[in-house]
Amino acid sequence: MVTHHKYDAIVIGAGPNGLAAAIALAQAGRSVVVFEAKETIGGGSRSLELTLPGFVHDLCSAIHPLAFNSPFLRTLPLAHYGLEWIHPPVPLAHPLDDGSAVLLERSLDTTGDTLESDGANYHRLMAPLVARWSLIEQAFLGPLRVSPLLRHPFALGRFGLLALRSAQGLARQRFTGERARALFAGISAHSMLSLDQPSSAAAGIVLGVIGHVVGWPFPRGGSQKIVDALAAYFQALGGEIVTGVEVKTLASLPPARALLFDVTPRQLLRIAGDHLSYGYSRALQRYRYGPGVFKIDYALDSPIPWKAESCLRAASVHLGGTLSEIAAAEYQVTHNQHPEKPFVLLAQQSLFDETRTPTGKHTAWAYCHVPHGSTFDMTERIEAQIERFAPGFRNRILARHSSDSAAMERYNANYIGGDISGGVQDIWQLFTRPAIRPVPYTTSAKHIFLCSSSTPPGGGVHGMCGYFAAQTALRSVLR
Ligand SMILES: Cc1cc2nc3c(=O)[nH]c(=O)nc-3n(C[C@H](O)[C@H](O)[C@H](O)COP(=O)(O)OP(=O)(O)OC[C@H]3O[C@@H](n4cnc5c(N)ncnc54)[C@H](O)[C@@H]3O)c2cc1C
Repeated sequence: MVTHHKYDAIVIGAGPNGLAAAIALAQAGRSVVVFEAKETIGGGSRSLELTLPGFVHDLCSAIHPLAFNSPFLRTLPLAHYGLEWIHPPVPLAHPLDDGSAVLLERSLDTTGDTLESDGANYHRLMAPLVARWSLIEQAFLGPLRVSPLLRHPFALGRFGLLALRSAQGLARQRFTGERARALFAGISAHSMLSLDQPSSAAAGIVLGVIGHVVGWPFPRGGSQKIVDALAAYFQALGGEIVTGVEVKTLASLPPARALLFDVTPRQLLRIAGDHLSYGYSRALQRYRYGPGVFKIDYALDSPIPWKAESCLRAASVHLGGTLSEIAAAEYQVTHNQHPEKPFVLLAQQSLFDETRTPTGKHTAWAYCHVPHGSTFDMTERIEAQIERFAPGFRNRILARHSSDSAAMERYNANYIGGDISGGVQDIWQLFTRPAIRPVPYTTSAKHIFLCSSSTPPGGGVHGMCGYFAAQTALRSVLR
């Protein structure tokens, strides 16, 4: 068949998933162009001098165990294109009011030591999952596949049963002390679910296990380096990237055999709704978005003065105290309230990466969850939580830059109402995102595919949604 298309495929959106899709297609020898709405590429993986000259801040994602360990990204020659990983000595610190901190160390045993009475319980829960991580990864980090489950029913069934539980229920049953419960609650809260909801334990388990398997590294120079390396490799394969073009209709695009959208369902409906069937459009309209975030970037005069000095060994710090406190904060967010004591996720990359700041100075990256679409200013409440574990923090601030959920959506159209995961990741939408279909990357239009984090395996910088969407297109219209 003779085709007159200039491109085999067009990718709309140069986020990590759009770029991963573009690379997978280009590797298969297809001609690909990427259109990005903003002047620079990267979506949720960008860095910029936001506060003062010489202070590089990660606008969205900061810590990248999922990118480092991504089954697709780890096969790419990204080091050749400038991507260098930094492994802080400790993946995560979780300070408590007694002035100590619980540490998620690379070693299970050393982690157990900081959990006191729960050391053995922690080992019992995590060790079998750490040992079988590669199996779990194959079965669950993508579209749900039945064959690995049939081949390894016990190993995978065990993971599945644990991951489907509520974080609160699992932590209270498995641990007797506050330290292990707090650690698990903080990691689970990455799910942006209330910790009494089923499957809220999944994030706690997956991110905790990855912490032991590969650590929680980040790129030297900022998250931008991940997408810059992806873009450079894509261009080396012959791909084209056009920035500053917001795609509003399909008519504005050059002809192509496949269109892959790195956008969420609501945007796809707006751009391509006329080409989708009634039934599929109705399913996309029912897709649910979750809470938003309130984010602050700080330029600091010195490192954060943690009461627990061990917090200086980790790039990631969870602030929220006990399981009960964190659960209460996340419950309020999902019930449309702004918690007085929010759970704060903080990163201090400059402690380990001198390229981020002028000599001796530092940055901090912090955010908390807020109700969908919130414009409430959480600055005071976030800073009170940091001060609680690091008295004197406010005196170290040289400059700050804050973004509420509405600002996050203005920055990236994919953050509907400030939702950074491309839609709620609860037990239902975890595997049926964006709609119930045998292959979730397909739509009702044969040549239109979704490749964003609104498809499995969901939020985070890992490129797997893009990779699977590209494989789907290659098996059908791009064969
Ligand atoms: C504050 C914050 C903290 C985070 N922390 C982490 C973290 O530490 N680790 C981690 O792994 N993840 C983190 N994330 C999540 C991560 O950023 C996202 O899950 C990830 O970027 C999703 O990738 P994506 O390619 O699906 O979409 P995006 O990265 O959102 O990219 C979508 C791209 O499409 C473009 N676009 C949208 N509409 C159009 C259009 N009509 N025409 C053309 N272009 C369009 C957008 O401009 C954007 O560039 C964080 C996010 C935020 C906001």
